[in-house]
Amino acid sequence: MTKTIRALGLFSGGLDSMLAAAVLRAQGIDVTLVCFVTPFFGAARARESAAHLGLPLREVDFTDKYLPLIYDPPHGFGQGHNPCIDCHTLMLREAGALMAAAGFDFLFTGEVLGQRPMSQNRGSLNLIARESGFADLLLRPLSAKSLKTTAPEIRGWVDRERLLNLSGRGRKRQMALAQEYGITRYPAPAGGCLLTDPGYSARLKDLLRHVQEASRQDLELLKYGRHFRLPGGAKAVVGRTERENDAIETLRSTGDSLLKVDQYPGPLVLVGGAVSGEDLAAAAGLAAAYSDAPRGAPVTVNAEPGGLPRVFNLTAPNKDRFKPWLV
Ligand code: SF4
Repeated sequence: MTKTIRALGLFSGGLDSMLAAAVLRAQGIDVTLVCFVTPFFGAARARESAAHLGLPLREVDFTDKYLPLIYDPPHGFGQGHNPCIDCHTLMLREAGALMAAAGFDFLFTGEVLGQRPMSQNRGSLNLIARESGFADLLLRPLSAKSLKTTAPEIRGWVDRERLLNLSGRGRKRQMALAQEYGITRYPAPAGGCLLTDPGYSARLKDLLRHVQEASRQDLELLKYGRHFRLPGGAKAVVGRTERENDAIETLRSTGDSLLKVDQYPGPLVLVGGAVSGEDLAAAAGLAAAYSDAPRGAPVTVNAEPGGLPRVFNLTAPNKDRFKPWLV
């Protein structure tokens, strides 16, 4: 009886990772997918795409192992705060451990040679494979014909002839292949990782300049509202919608201050941790400026600064005044 070959694939839920899985499944490989989760990228896309393919998906939260990479990744950042080379290496290392523990035969990814300038050029693909510790058992089905032959091909588990030689940034061939494999729903490219988002990256860089160690709560909070670095060093987060106000309230830590205008609809403003009187007054100004109060109208801002409540009476200032503090 021939043994069923089992492959474990890194899966973001994007079209490339879907195709890589489909290409191997078409060869009779028993495919399982794994999606790694952090506060910067979740499993929603992967879940939906795995369901569309009808393939099993494992979700692994590896935030604790990942966080050191946002400080000083050995291979640096991309255009945002994305340590793609080290991120891929870590994912493969973790997937490799899972492969060994759960009896999979090899690993695969949806990487395409030359698709991303930093992390998918030939040198980076080789580096990532080598540093993961699983170079020999790592197959990239979409570009395999342009890459060094791997053990799964040499051992006859996978037919190299039926693998692909995709390269570059174009998507035409991928879209044609999607049709061929009956993949009718797939997400738009990019958008899956907050570390590539310029706004989130700027807020994260600012956070890391001001805290010794970012907590999960800090990282979650970066997803909501406008962020201002106040003159005394405290940070104010101003909700933009009802949903953001709710999220900000939920993410409040003991000792944080919450401010809100009394007479008009307006945002919830959160100021993190110990805050000077000057910064709290500045945050009250923000609450008034971003409320529906007409400019110059007298307003009352109620603040719950960790301990005793405070009340600020002021005239609603112009938002422009706060622009220099916007992160
Ligand atoms: S885009 Fe984000 S998830 Fe993807 S490799 Fe880069 S850092 Fe990792």
